[in-house]
Amino acid sequence: MIIKRVTCKGICSRHKADRPIVGGGQRYALEQKRCQVCEIFIYFPGVYCPCCGQRLRMRPRLGRDRAKLFALQGQTQT
Ligand SMILES: [Zn+2]
Ligand SMILES: [Zn+2]
Repeated sequence: MIIKRVTCKGICSRHKADRPIVGGGQRYALEQKRCQVCEIFIYFPGVYCPCCGQRLRMRPRLGRDRAKLFALQGQTQT
């Protein structure tokens, strides 16, 4: 049995998110995602880390929550 190890290969440094353009604390708003394995903020459109393959962490936004709410309402109505 092969255990897939999730490790940082150093690729993430290429996608490393520099200091936010807008004031501090806006990293998530700028599509910057956090990889817990690489312990880095990267600027990447995908859901998984291009480096280690770990799922990237995004801060849920109000707009998305609202969309989810609408979806739930649609389900209950049917
Ligand atoms: Zn990495
Ligand atoms: Zn990673």
